[in-house]
Amino acid sequence: MLRQYELVERVLEYDPDADEAALNRAYVYTVQKHGSQKRASGDPYFSHPVEVAGLMTDLQLDQETIMTALLHDTVEDTLATIEDIEANFGPEVARLVDGVTKLSKIEAMPENERAAENLRKFLLAMSEDIRVSLVKLADRLHNMRTLHFIKKPEKRQRIARETMDIYAPLAERVGMYEYMREMQLLAFEQLEPEAFKTISDRLAELRGQDGGQVDAIALAVKQALAEAGLTVEVSGREKHPYSIWRKMAERHVSFEQVTDIMAFRVICEDEADCYRAMGILHTTWQFLPGRFKDYISTPKNNGYRSLHTSLMYENSMRVEVQIRTRDMHQRNEFGLAAHWAYKQEDSADGAVGWLRDLIEIVDASHDAEELLEHTRMAIYQDRIFAFTPKGALFQLPIGATPVDFAFAVHTDLGAATLGAKINGRHMPLRTQLNNGDVVDIIKGQNAEPELSWLGFVVTGKARAAIRRAVRLKEHAEVAEIGRKLFDEIADRVPAKIGKKAIQGALDRLEMGDEEDLMFAIGAAKIEDREVMEALVPGCTANFDEDADWTKRERAISIRGLTPGVGFQLATCCHPVPGDRIVGLRKPHEGVEVHAIDCLELANGVDYDWLDLSWGKRSQGALGRLRVTLYDKPGTLSEATGIFGHNLANVKTLEHVQHDPPFSSYEMDLEVQDLAHLTRILSALRASDAVAQAERI
Ligand code: MN
Repeated sequence: MLRQYELVERVLEYDPDADEAALNRAYVYTVQKHGSQKRASGDPYFSHPVEVAGLMTDLQLDQETIMTALLHDTVEDTLATIEDIEANFGPEVARLVDGVTKLSKIEAMPENERAAENLRKFLLAMSEDIRVSLVKLADRLHNMRTLHFIKKPEKRQRIARETMDIYAPLAERVGMYEYMREMQLLAFEQLEPEAFKTISDRLAELRGQDGGQVDAIALAVKQALAEAGLTVEVSGREKHPYSIWRKMAERHVSFEQVTDIMAFRVICEDEADCYRAMGILHTTWQFLPGRFKDYISTPKNNGYRSLHTSLMYENSMRVEVQIRTRDMHQRNEFGLAAHWAYKQEDSADGAVGWLRDLIEIVDASHDAEELLEHTRMAIYQDRIFAFTPKGALFQLPIGATPVDFAFAVHTDLGAATLGAKINGRHMPLRTQLNNGDVVDIIKGQNAEPELSWLGFVVTGKARAAIRRAVRLKEHAEVAEIGRKLFDEIADRVPAKIGKKAIQGALDRLEMGDEEDLMFAIGAAKIEDREVMEALVPGCTANFDEDADWTKRERAISIRGLTPGVGFQLATCCHPVPGDRIVGLRKPHEGVEVHAIDCLELANGVDYDWLDLSWGKRSQGALGRLRVTLYDKPGTLSEATGIFGHNLANVKTLEHVQHDPPFSSYEMDLEVQDLAHLTRILSALRASDAVAQAERI
């Protein structure tokens, strides 16, 4: 661990004007506040903030950043408050520490709450001040370096995955490639221990066979350039196991087939030399067309500048070469940090501007291809990335469908979804998306979310939006039915019902507005008699209790039959009074009465068809329903409660399907007539217990 005077000396080396006393105070403060707290390694806790501060001095950051690094865990993990920090170290350091603390809080949220919205929040917090994100990245890097001390494998996995998913890409985005590489390597070792070991072993083996290959090639490159009169520095390195593994995964090749395991860096004196060097290398060795990139004339978003090319060395070995000036190199490796350190010459706004750009990239990438480069790996086992036709990127859980995608883009788009094209082809909405799919959502003019989508969507956002939309729609439909029923009820009271009477009824029933009343009637939450009483108090004094149809005999009569001919209601379609009906005359069996849209009628073409209708006072028949309930306690009793409340007797009940989170039942229900059955259906659909209810 860095000692107090070592840390202060490091800062003074690059910033002689730094406030030594303030740095000392911050060091002592963190040691005191963390007191006897311990790291998983057994080290005193304060060794961690001190190491993070040390990392910050490597980047030659200003004294406020160093102090923030020292204090970064005091508010989150000790009794210190932001007010304490401000009182002791001033408002600027307090603001920075507050920024880092906010990030830690988002980090600590449960996984499912930490998804997209939080990533966005996280990045926004990062962009408040570039120094906040630099401290956070160093914090994570040090935590990764000490990850192996953590005992619980699940915790190690979670931290490693988070590093791979968020911090390493972020380090890359801000151009801190050294941080990125180390984070990836450490996370990879944790997430894919076997692959890590195999590749490391193979690399060691290779090194043993042709030891010095890296040096030999570096020398050859340097000589070729020297002969042309260029003074350059050349360094070479093996790629690390993670980047080799990524190439294997991306190209679906084996270790032997990954040929470019070495990378070389050529540092030139000026920009013109960079292009000259590349020309010479391209004529000395064969180069791979399509692999050449000019980031000098077109820098990456994070400011990275370099030429990249791939050469065939001695016709068999593919090597990558990066060519740049020393100045570019410095900035490339330090990235945003360098940008900040150089703020005297550059405008500091640029740095924050980059991070804001980054939020946009994550949100809806303009640079999607590049972002995806890191996402095609098997390591992202639980999520996929899909694009809009314009290239905006969306992260979804595995199993997500175009409907999930549409809702991820925008709730309105999800609601208006009619169909989808995946990679240019029309595909069913329940199709599971694959990584990299381009999804084009086809919008309908009056399209509405379908309840059945709940059977295949996987995102909470889609699920919630569909339920909300369906509820709204059902509410309107039920109220519409209620309105018709209300007109009938109003006819039965001995007074003319106008606006005033309705308002009076609403007051008596303590209901907000007409819509509420109509919904209550439609959903059978209120009895006819109560409505009549509310409209004209006292009018039901002589109400006929026998109006309860279940107390009367079932009476079905059919018009259109020859008197004396027997009939039965078909058991396939269960027609109820109110349905349009047709009769099949079957020899020796009498007449079978079907609903006009019964599919079984297709088998009855050989019989005589009779045009029938219901007799005047017909009532009482079996309606057949299929009801899909949410599979949780109490839903079935709530559904049967609705039947009871509506005076409908359940004759048979069969559990037909269990498909979590749903459970489906089929039942025969004794109902008065079609209107009665429709009311029951409405009441079911209005219930929270019911996912779907339909006649079958
Ligand atoms: Mn920390």
